[in-house]
Amino acid sequence: MAILQGECPKCGKRVLHVNVEHIVGMVDGTSKARCLSYSCIHCNTIMGVQIDPRAKPRLRSSKPPAAS
Ligand SMILES: [Zn+2]
Repeated sequence: MAILQGECPKCGKRVLHVNVEHIVGMVDGTSKARCLSYSCIHCNTIMGVQIDPRAKPRLRSSKPPAAS
């Protein structure tokens, strides 16, 4: 039988829920992108980080939409 649920690599508990946090991706000391982190609810080990797919680039969002 296949194991459908993953297990936390640190505490070994099944990962049925994750803590999702908004974090900031840094490049050369400056914030470049909004990211999401996923961490175990039992031991807070981070299992994954990705760039927030809903976030827009900062430079583009600060510009007015229709300049001319
Ligand atoms: Zn864990």
